[in-house]
Amino acid sequence: MNTPENILKQYFGYASFRPLQKEIIEHLLAGNNALVLMPTGGGKSMCFQIPAMIKEGTCIVVSPLIALMKDQVEALMTNGIPAACINSSMSPQQIAHVESLALDGELKLLYVSPEKLVSSLFQQFMARLKISLFAIDEAHCISSWGHDFRPEYTQLATLKANYPNVPVVALTATADRITRDDIIQQLALADARQFIASFDRPNLSLKVLPGRDRLAIMTKFLEERPDTSGIIYCLSRKSCEQVSDSLNSRGFNTDFYHAQLTSAERNRVQEDFVSDKVPIICATIAFGMGIDKSNVRWVIHYNLPKNIEGFYQEIGRAGRDGLASDTLLFYSYRDITMLRKFAEESGQKELKLEKLNRMQQYAEAHTCRRKILLSYFSEDLPEKCGNCDVCKNPPEYFDGTRVAQMALSAVTRLKEQVGTGMLIDVLRGSNKSSLLERGYHHIKTYGAGRNLSAFEWQDYLIQLLNQGLIEIAYDDHNVIRLTASSKEVLFQNRKVELVTPSYKRKKREEAKAAKSDRRSRRESIGKGDKLFAILRKLRTNIASRDGIPPYIVFNDATLKDMSARKPVTEEQMMEVSGVGLEKFRRYGDLFMHEIREFTALYNEEGKKITGGSYLYSLRLFKEGMSPEQIATLRKMVTGTVYGHLIKAHEAGADVELSNFVKEGEISEITAAYESLGDEVSIRAIFEKLEERQPYHKIRIALALAGHEFGTAKS
Ligand code: ADP
Ligand code: ZN
Repeated sequence: MNTPENILKQYFGYASFRPLQKEIIEHLLAGNNALVLMPTGGGKSMCFQIPAMIKEGTCIVVSPLIALMKDQVEALMTNGIPAACINSSMSPQQIAHVESLALDGELKLLYVSPEKLVSSLFQQFMARLKISLFAIDEAHCISSWGHDFRPEYTQLATLKANYPNVPVVALTATADRITRDDIIQQLALADARQFIASFDRPNLSLKVLPGRDRLAIMTKFLEERPDTSGIIYCLSRKSCEQVSDSLNSRGFNTDFYHAQLTSAERNRVQEDFVSDKVPIICATIAFGMGIDKSNVRWVIHYNLPKNIEGFYQEIGRAGRDGLASDTLLFYSYRDITMLRKFAEESGQKELKLEKLNRMQQYAEAHTCRRKILLSYFSEDLPEKCGNCDVCKNPPEYFDGTRVAQMALSAVTRLKEQVGTGMLIDVLRGSNKSSLLERGYHHIKTYGAGRNLSAFEWQDYLIQLLNQGLIEIAYDDHNVIRLTASSKEVLFQNRKVELVTPSYKRKKREEAKAAKSDRRSRRESIGKGDKLFAILRKLRTNIASRDGIPPYIVFNDATLKDMSARKPVTEEQMMEVSGVGLEKFRRYGDLFMHEIREFTALYNEEGKKITGGSYLYSLRLFKEGMSPEQIATLRKMVTGTVYGHLIKAHEAGADVELSNFVKEGEISEITAAYESLGDEVSIRAIFEKLEERQPYHKIRIALALAGHEFGTAKS
């Protein structure tokens, strides 16, 4: 029966729907329009793919990027769902072929770029096609309010007028209220129901660090996560290249990606990443949008992003498979200054500055960071998340009145004419010539704060800024100014609470936290899980054999489930999350074989079982496989398999070795054996018989004749 649940299980191999998926599917099946808002990795595709499977006709999916289309089509095909795409990189013949498949009713889903969709040729084709549904992916691209406006998308406005009876579903991972309204209005979906999923991605850990020693910190971060894939986002082309070079020179395998590369170079980098050939990419924001790679285990922001939408989408590229993944943001004042400048020079200046402010608040937060992110998307997280650096390492408050007074008094004496750098130098009593030239060493607070490090001062100044006790004059060389509240601190003894800088607390907590961190990471990515590593290797081999990305074969979550359950029968294998009928048909045997071999070679604790290997060959032999077949399956030379069987024979197992050599051959070989005396070896016999008998026959003959060295000497 074609129920949504059955399709989910049989084609995708999943046991249950995620929140909202079922409702959306039923809403669309009933012929209604919908706007779907779900975070990256939330499972949007299923919402139109399942109705497409159930309804008669073809679902047209509008998608902005060729790579993304190709990926989705491949993923559908490996699940046994007929799908194809049409894009500008294809020849007219290829397009004609796909169109005729669709017209013959042989495609459940057809992916197409927006510019193609509105072309008159395609419109003519659509007029002849039975269309089940329109799905507009990345729908925020239609709105100039969104952060990723694409003019081609605005032409989709005519869709509903031309096809009033075909349901439309618009999907996006990023849309504030304005963008959402804009999507609905432009696509003429006034009656569409809005489905807004929670944006919470509890499997992503959140962490912010000051932007210093970034290379050393990243090196440590990467060393703690060997064999994992991740993205490092940088603000500029130059830093992309530099970071990539520095990491490569430290022995990591990275590449870079930015808008100045040719499109061929960009495709190559993207493909190397997708196929796990190059696990780490340093990229500007242009990277990742067209990638569904589900096993990205971490995302680092080398620079502060310019808004929370972009940040959330970028970190959202980690952990799409639902497994624990880490995110790390480096935050520096220099980035803020630069981003403010960009915003000021752009159109929509107010809006962009406001968005940057919100980003900054996130980076400087002393409360649960996930709460801040979710509140940005108008969502309230009732409890602290427990998976961000603030929750894991809560702030310690202290009476910072004296610290604040010191800083504010220095600002007053410096006549509100210096920026943070100079202010800190004055407080710490620096001898810099620029300071001495201006005579700042004569003011009263010079050196009064030398017991605090420059880093600590920087942190406290940010806190004072956030509490409204100082201001930065962005329009006047970023100098620090006093506010009305500053005076209360200076003259009315207003109390100021400050938080110990997190990195100071961190040092204390580090040893403790690092230990439990490492443990949970090991569990989460299956490091130290031998079978997981074996299955992953098989996945890589299959992927390169079939020319598809490894995560399309099976994602990490599926391999993890598989390595925990160790299925060796079809029934058990079909229980694994992410194994549907088609994937079982394609890959089931290969994976079950690895698991069977693994359980034959290793015990429950992962320790090698003595004699496991030859006993496993024996088992396969007894099941009717020939030594050649066993050798192919176990990726060993046939001689080794014969060795196993001889060993089993010597150990008293019931192995019919006589089938492999004739009586006459045995006597010929034993004669050679006896004639050689002390000089005897397999090789000597081989030569003596003028290479007529292969090694394995010599060994078997000797074993059958009861001579000593069946397996050992050769
Ligand atoms: P999005 O398009 O929202 O970023 P996807 O549709 O690519 O997300 O889904 C992300 C991942 O979650 C995919 O690997 C997908 O197979 C998986 N997924 C989707 N729905 C379910 C489900 N109901 N159960 C388990 N996994 C699911
Ligand atoms: Zn938290």
